[in-house]
Amino acid sequence: MPEIKISSNKRVEFIDITQEVQKIVDSSGIKEGAVLVFTRHTTTGLMINENESGLIKDFENMLKKLVPPNEYLHDRIDNNADAHLRSVLLNPSIVLPVVNKRIYLGTWQRIFFVELDGPRNRKVVVKIL
Ligand code: ZN
Repeated sequence: MPEIKISSNKRVEFIDITQEVQKIVDSSGIKEGAVLVFTRHTTTGLMINENESGLIKDFENMLKKLVPPNEYLHDRIDNNADAHLRSVLLNPSIVLPVVNKRIYLGTWQRIFFVELDGPRNRKVVVKIL
């Protein structure tokens, strides 16, 4: 299965992977169908939204507000409970239509991989349907 390798640079980071996913769609030769994008990690997520720097900061602040740094039970194991908790607010997978060889995104829609416990090396799998 094709995958996208991602090296995050920060603890929390929003990485636009739209082009990488489109490249996999291109090389598959599919004309009509769907593409499934899935992250196999418990401290990451996926989302579809606009790639605007102010908005990215707003998303980051929203995650911090909803799941503030705190003393969580899981922290006794590897000190990253906030990342696990924030990840359930996002999607582990997304399915997008492919129309005429292109991911059928709206004008402002981009596919984001969201790192919540970086920096790390990550993999996102892409399955053509
Ligand atoms: Zn953990």
